[in-house]
Amino acid sequence: MTFTLDSNILINLVRLYPRDIFGSVWDSIEMTVASGDVCICEAVLREVHRGGDELYNWAKDLPGFMCAVSDRELLTVSEIATEHPDWVRGQLNEADPFVIAHAKAERSVVVTEENRKGPNTEDRNQKIPNIADDHGVGCIKFFDFVRGQGWQF
Ligand SMILES: [Zn+2]
Repeated sequence: MTFTLDSNILINLVRLYPRDIFGSVWDSIEMTVASGDVCICEAVLREVHRGGDELYNWAKDLPGFMCAVSDRELLTVSEIATEHPDWVRGQLNEADPFVIAHAKAERSVVVTEENRKGPNTEDRNQKIPNIADDHGVGCIKFFDFVRGQGWQF
């Protein structure tokens, strides 16, 4: 199984698990990237600028980490925009449909800290797991991912 990371996972890494203290967390992630099991999409790379230049440069320079967007993914993104016109609101969540589209194209699982909203939630309040459902894309949280890898720190 392969995984694609949402922006909040990378931003949390910097905030909650700084590399000078939690170096083995970062090393472990780099190993999964090297083995082709973990990636981010182009839109997430753009978004992680919010986490600072150091995070951005790390993500950009990690070989094989960033996957360029494909035409097929752009098609999924426009489908999502048609189905949920009020979901994406500017910079707040503009990468989200791309994360789902990338996972769908690669048949991978999204790792995100976003929480699923209940039924009848308005589009503008939907979260990645809700929209991912429409496209048969699974979502897990960071600790589920870590447990799945069998990591202990
Ligand atoms: Zn990828």
